[in-house]
Amino acid sequence: MARIVVLGSLNVDLVVTVPRLPHPGETVLGDGLRSYPGGKGANQAVAAARLGGQVAMVGRVGNDNFGAGLIENLDVNHVDSSGVEHDSAMPTGAALIYVEAGGQNMIAVAPGANGTVGPMDAERAVSRLVAGDVLVLQLEIPISVIAHAAVVARQAGAFVLLNAAPAQRLDPGLLSRLDALVVNEREANALVDHEDPASMAAALRTLGPKLVIVTLGPSGSVFCDETGVHRVEPFDVESIDSTGAGDAFMGALAVGIARRLETKAAVRFGNAAGAAATSSVGAQAALPRLDDLRQRFGLDLSSSEH
Ligand code: ADP
Repeated sequence: MARIVVLGSLNVDLVVTVPRLPHPGETVLGDGLRSYPGGKGANQAVAAARLGGQVAMVGRVGNDNFGAGLIENLDVNHVDSSGVEHDSAMPTGAALIYVEAGGQNMIAVAPGANGTVGPMDAERAVSRLVAGDVLVLQLEIPISVIAHAAVVARQAGAFVLLNAAPAQRLDPGLLSRLDALVVNEREANALVDHEDPASMAAALRTLGPKLVIVTLGPSGSVFCDETGVHRVEPFDVESIDSTGAGDAFMGALAVGIARRLETKAAVRFGNAAGAAATSSVGAQAALPRLDDLRQRFGLDLSSSEH
């Protein structure tokens, strides 16, 4: 199986549940502080490793206890953490999250060391790849570094997979270098002006990516490749927390690509992982394992390989 390298963010998520969200200038008393490993990069790396991928993470954390905890978490999840550098000048990235009892939340992110990921880190990531391996990117590190990574990864013959999250506009040069682009509807809206998902996927593909996938929450996903636009049905689950669905989808898709599944099978694998992630609470805590997907949905990946 091809290898997967994730170049991206590592955050600690600091969560406090409050009876209601504070107004500006107000203090409310919440329950005890809980901390969880997070960051889209690390979440997607863990998602792929739990689903059987051979995964390495490249990124930056601070020289602090949070950073040490995030690295330990990668190790526990069998993600190669040797490409995560300690930055002595910056703290580990953190997301400060207030959750209201009713489910509404408020989040402030301090990118910390994620903001100092630079072109040398992109080159370190790509040096771990050989032709046919998969580079996974998101938008929580500087965009110039993502663009550089895409250029050098393509030169190395790697497959470049970008999850354009959080939503933002992208340079046409970057889009033209992607093998695959994954967005939800909100992220797609930041890039193209279309209402329905099939038109969004088709319009995005004209911007350069060979494969575009638009994820649709409970409605599954659509993809557009050289054969046209195809809808991939969702899996039926009792959904209780949508956190982590997109990251689970990305991890599974990366594994599907690394295993050379046909596109439709790889996207279906993503749908299964996304659905499973919504049926339990949390980001990384809810990321499924291959056995979960086999048992719950009867997924058999070996029959869909090329
Ligand atoms: P994001 O978290 O990035 O917004 P989505 O909500 O689109 O991403 O979820 C990613 C994938 O997870 C979807 O394409 C879908 O296949 C699956 N998924 C998400 N929510 C549900 C749900 N309630 N029921 C079934 N599948 C879901």
